[in-house]
Amino acid sequence: TNKFKEGLTKTRDAFVNRVDDLFSRRKKIDEDFYEELEEILIGADVGVNTVLKLIDELRAEVKKRKIEDPSELQPILSEKLIELLKGDADAGLNINPNGLTVILFVGVNGVGKTTTIGKMAHMFKSQGKKVLMAAGDTFRAGAIEQLETWGERVGVDVIKQQSGADPAAVMYDAVQAAKTRGVDILLCDTAGRLQNKVNLMEELNKIYRVIQREVPDAPHEVILVLDATTGQNALSQAKLFGDKTGLTGLVLSKLDGTAKGGIVVAIRQELALPVKFVGLGEKMDDLQPFDSEQFVHALFG
Ligand code: GDP
Repeated sequence: TNKFKEGLTKTRDAFVNRVDDLFSRRKKIDEDFYEELEEILIGADVGVNTVLKLIDELRAEVKKRKIEDPSELQPILSEKLIELLKGDADAGLNINPNGLTVILFVGVNGVGKTTTIGKMAHMFKSQGKKVLMAAGDTFRAGAIEQLETWGERVGVDVIKQQSGADPAAVMYDAVQAAKTRGVDILLCDTAGRLQNKVNLMEELNKIYRVIQREVPDAPHEVILVLDATTGQNALSQAKLFGDKTGLTGLVLSKLDGTAKGGIVVAIRQELALPVKFVGLGEKMDDLQPFDSEQFVHALFG
């Protein structure tokens, strides 16, 4: 919870302080009150549809419980936010208990994909797992070296070829190496160039098929990494990758870098995908499994 609290400082300062102020300043629950709350929630990137739904639910509670004092609404708002975030959101990763687990990471350049892979390598290694990484972004200059730097930092090997190589061939190599070495977790980086969308989707599909062919039931997870600081843009990226890549979940990076942490709620509401982890900083232990209750309590607690 402390990690969450620290990482959510910006959101707490902006969003939560405004909510606190609203609940204590207003003396009655009237249209002005709802309007101001609506404005604060939309400002925190909760998403217009979700905000309207939330306000409707609050109105219904006020009526049902005959609430008159705005401060009594605060715990109800927390409750409603937890409800909105729940579902399979707290499900964790799908790990193969009897052998190799392959996790594929996709996402647009700059969202924090490499960093997330490095952090996750560290996390699994700390759990005593044998981890390997595959440098599947052979397109972006420096991507391979960046993953290698993370490998050195966390003590995990990287399987690579030279820049410009066929990423599917890198994945083939990586899977073979993982099998030979008795690896538990193989974390696969991929390219994120958007200017060449069709090619990228074809490339991802080819990678997917190689992994599927070489390891039964793999990939066990296809994780889309989204940058929380891009707000509603993150939502359109998710729609772009959509079902073309067989996504199983999300990592929301850079939540520490935004005052609009409400984007988590919008993402949970608008995408049929669980947020599995959130990035709360640039260091190796700044990755947290997403837990809706912890998240909301860190915000309001
Ligand atoms: P990629 O192009 O998707 O692989 O993105 P990178 O992993 O290179 O990340 C881009 C930048 O975002 C780097 O400067 C990272 O240090 C930074 N970054 C990644 N995740 C986080 C995070 O959770 N919090 C913060 N503050 N920065 C992050």
